[in-house]
Amino acid sequence: MQALVLEEKGVLALRDIDLPQTVGPDDVKIAIHTVGVCGSDVHYYTHGAIGPYVLRAPMVLGHEAAGTIVEVGENVRSLAVGDRVCMEPGIPDLSSRASKLGLYNVDPAVRFWATPPVHGILAPYAVHPAAFTYRLPDSVSFAEGAMVEPFAIGMQAATRARIVPGDVAAVIGAGPIGIMVALAALAGGCSRVLISDFSAEKLAIAAAYPGIEAVNLKETTFAAAVDTATRGWGADVVFEASGSAKAFEGLFNLVRPGGAAVLVGLPVDAVRFDVAGAISREVRIETVFRYANVFDRALELIASGKVDLKPLITGTYAFKDSIAAFDRAVEARPTDVKLQILVAEEG
Ligand SMILES: [Zn+2]
Repeated sequence: MQALVLEEKGVLALRDIDLPQTVGPDDVKIAIHTVGVCGSDVHYYTHGAIGPYVLRAPMVLGHEAAGTIVEVGENVRSLAVGDRVCMEPGIPDLSSRASKLGLYNVDPAVRFWATPPVHGILAPYAVHPAAFTYRLPDSVSFAEGAMVEPFAIGMQAATRARIVPGDVAAVIGAGPIGIMVALAALAGGCSRVLISDFSAEKLAIAAAYPGIEAVNLKETTFAAAVDTATRGWGADVVFEASGSAKAFEGLFNLVRPGGAAVLVGLPVDAVRFDVAGAISREVRIETVFRYANVFDRALELIASGKVDLKPLITGTYAFKDSIAAFDRAVEARPTDVKLQILVAEEG
């Protein structure tokens, strides 16, 4: 089966590779329709590793996917052939202690698509547990279905934040994940979301959504902007979505007394952490690793129209042009939010 294979750091090939096609009793087989290009896919392409995950053998990329079910295992009752679906890319051990606690995203045994040594799904077909495959409502397109995975990170962050109606949120970083976090925070009940970045182009895309206010760090500090917006009180929730070590300087000064700081971005190096600043305000610190139990709610928000992810899809490539899509993603143009690859040709 043809797939987009990362042979080694910097070397992609669209070539035949053997992928498991056996449909177990609890699995479904999916004809892949649309796949989003994720920052992590691009990072494996350019660096060959993310933290402890190192590419040691050729690996198929891609983990943000939607498609159509073509085969179901004998135990599967919730899904049928012909269903349009999206997939949650992590497969935990469902009998693990973490899974039994509902924290399957932090199950040490989780196998996650396109994280070495696990193959991703930039290929015509994939086999996946039905338990982690979600039917798309009729009003949700394949393109939107492939956006559920990145939006799920925003959903996890907003859930961890425990937003109360009317909260004011501040999001550091207007990259794809920062925007997803801002949209989930708004959907979760925030009255306003301030978002900061150094890129006017990224901020313009974020602030096109009503309720999201751009703060350009070339013109002011986030602290000053949050101060003005909250009359010195601070944001109820601050989301760190940049992964930049510098963002942690003064991070807790943005949070109101008793508010929350939610850490989403993954810094490459160790960062300095102002423990005294956090303690003096009794800041509640939450961390986000991928997501658990949010796909159904994400799909409800998209289907209801409360969250519109379509403006964030800024480029679509044919499967045969997958490598061009990745080379474009490497350029990291500020106006490119999400590039997608059409694996299936038909509508
Ligand atoms: Zn992703």
